[in-house]
Amino acid sequence: MLNPRRHVLRLRSVLGSLICALLVAMMATTQPARAECPLESQTPVYDIGFEFLRDLLISTKSELEQFFDININEFCLDEEEYGAYYDMEFGNLVLGDSFLLEKANPPGNVNNVIAIIAHETAHAFQHKHGLLNMLVEQNPHRVKCIELHADFLTGGYMRWRAQDFDINHIKLTTMFYRLGDRVIESDSHHGLGPERYVTFLQGFNTVAGDVITLSSMGIAYVSQADCDE
Ligand SMILES: [Zn+2]
Repeated sequence: MLNPRRHVLRLRSVLGSLICALLVAMMATTQPARAECPLESQTPVYDIGFEFLRDLLISTKSELEQFFDININEFCLDEEEYGAYYDMEFGNLVLGDSFLLEKANPPGNVNNVIAIIAHETAHAFQHKHGLLNMLVEQNPHRVKCIELHADFLTGGYMRWRAQDFDINHIKLTTMFYRLGDRVIESDSHHGLGPERYVTFLQGFNTVAGDVITLSSMGIAYVSQADCDE
């Protein structure tokens, strides 16, 4: 004869085991041991054999996370990427091998590389605070406002870094000038050389108590730049 109470208890224990198994399966699939670089062509900077470069990139990531008060999942070098970008899907920073070498050359231009990484981290900051949409809404036809705002934040970061390191901001402004493009009609237009130059410099010359204030000052500055023209 079936004991109804026992049956319920047994059912509960079976359900409990099933739920436990499901939780274990979910933990196994949703909690990787560490963040990863998703593409075959990418390598986490932690795996770089050159100690100087590895330590530089890891410490830069850490400093940027502190300054921007954000978390970067993984920092990846990509042998098939020419430029650099922030991967919103994975929360990763990606830097092209050849781009890294080009910007670090001649030796001694290490701050150029750091400024490039800072610019991409500024995009992570914009993403976290919903500024990508806001800046686009202000000027719906161009990404230029977003890019100039990132240049402004980069200037603020390099000023912050200059408290502890010897930074030649003339070299940096020269690089931003050269990063400018003239494809004004394109939706991917990042800004003319002189615009990127003065925006970076304005950020460098701005002293703000925290990154949120710096960002607000950057938005006010960029909004004067007629980004949609
Ligand atoms: Zn950018």
